Amino acid sequence: MNYRLEQAFGIKLARHFVLEHVEEMFGEGSAIDEDGKLTDKAIELLKVRYGGNVFNLSAGMDMDEIPALVTAGTMSGGVMDVLDSLLEKCPNCGNSAWKAEGVRIKCGSCGADAAFKNGDDLIKEWLTKVQEEKKIF
Ligand SMILES: [Zn+2]
Repeated sequence: MNYRLEQAFGIKLARHFVLEHVEEMFGEGSAIDEDGKLTDKAIELLKVRYGGNVFNLSAGMDMDEIPALVTAGTMSGGVMDVLDSLLEKCPNCGNSAWKAEGVRIKCGSCGADAAFKNGDDLIKEWLTKVQEEKKIF
């Protein structure tokens, strides 16, 4: 499914779930404890990211339960985040003339494909910002 979305939109979606990035950025055990359970901090972060009502989140839930929480809504959210990273100006010609061809976005001036940030980089940027604001970890 991710592959089809990437092909259709010409984007790269995140390969790693947000909590895997947390473990990498803030240290092992910060989001998932040694028994594979989500920490309170992980739950707090997921509520910030997805809103309190999107997931049925509870402290002590197992990391193995996470894949079942992926919905059409979370997947389209991931696609929208990447599409929102489109630069204002075309990096190829410097003009600001994006236009849609089907679901693809191309430069209306030079014809270059739109360039987006990839999903994993966007998650890391988001985590950095949230950590600065909320100091969860
Ligand atoms: Zn261009």
